[in-house]
Amino acid sequence: MAVPFLDLRAQYTSIKGEIDAAIAGVVESCGFIGGETLRRFERNFAAYSGAKFGVGSCSGTSALHLALMGVGVKRGDEVITACNTFIATTEAVMHAGARPVLVDVDEATQLISPERVEAAITPKTRAIIPVHLYGQPADMDAIRDIAKRKNLKIVADAAQSHGSAIAGDRKKTLGDTTAFSFYPGKNLGAYGDAGLVATDDEEAATLMRALGDHGSKEKYHHIYEGWNYRLDAIQAAVLDVKLKHLDQWTERRRAHAARYDQAFAGTAVIPIVAAPGRTHVYHLYVVRVPDRDLVMSRLKEKGIGTGIHYPLPLHLQPAYAHLGLKKGSFPVAEKVVARIVSLPMYAEMTAAMVDEVAAATIAAAT
Ligand SMILES: *Cc1c(COP(=O)(O)O)cnc(C)c1O
Repeated sequence: MAVPFLDLRAQYTSIKGEIDAAIAGVVESCGFIGGETLRRFERNFAAYSGAKFGVGSCSGTSALHLALMGVGVKRGDEVITACNTFIATTEAVMHAGARPVLVDVDEATQLISPERVEAAITPKTRAIIPVHLYGQPADMDAIRDIAKRKNLKIVADAAQSHGSAIAGDRKKTLGDTTAFSFYPGKNLGAYGDAGLVATDDEEAATLMRALGDHGSKEKYHHIYEGWNYRLDAIQAAVLDVKLKHLDQWTERRRAHAARYDQAFAGTAVIPIVAAPGRTHVYHLYVVRVPDRDLVMSRLKEKGIGTGIHYPLPLHLQPAYAHLGLKKGSFPVAEKVVARIVSLPMYAEMTAAMVDEVAAATIAAAT
């Protein structure tokens, strides 16, 4: 049985009637920008995430940029984040005129190391970006404690972690501002690019909303120079339909992950650890294997899709040569990156598909 890495069509098919009606409704109204469809989704997603305000944006990357500006990150500031995240996290720091300061991760979870964060703080540090990588929230209790003691802001990168929780509480995963991505393959995916910033700070929400709409609160009246980062109404309508299904999809992802975990116990396939007390929403199910390239090619022969998230840590990317870091700078992330592979993970998989992937992975790794 072939198992694709992701199957967006299977999800669309399961909710086609609702989606088609929502899109047709926006087209019929011709209210493509702003309006009640957008405001309703912003309210619903903010409430879902445990935040007071939601500001829609045109991508996760623009949401991160707004989230940084929302906490006052400016030119010359330093912002600390994990070296193993997607480049959008650090691009947003550069867009805000600040300098990304990369740190290593904890080996078991591959999440940003609070000890490394603390060691990287300088007088220029303004904010920390914990990345809830693969759908598992970072150690926010420790990071919040550091931020409080050192008077820093927290901008959470929740692009992969819609609906995740700490001690059962989604609010505990949030920063002062929190950026979500609705890229089509994310746990809550639009039918194009989309994102949102969540916050409890009304002033920050007002600022971010204005900055993302040409620096205006009122059309053609510009308080600042801003950006066109608006989330369009068709995407908001799609997302509002899908939000109603998200918890049920997350439960299926978690059930698949538990089934994988059970299959891999005592084998050469070692899953990235899910820390106790954190609700991991498994945007990605990532394992470590002794010979990653061999496992990937054997699974490919069987028609099983895989990926690597991500093959090269940011400090080793040509784009960040200017940071002056080198091989050996972050030994934990560098050691693990050579062995990781992401296996198929989406709500519409069946238990039989999970079993097939698990058996094939174990056979290929042994
Ligand atoms: C997807 C992603 C982003 C960027 O989101 P886009 O919607 O693609 O701009 C940022 N950070 C992480 C960790 C992501 O996975």
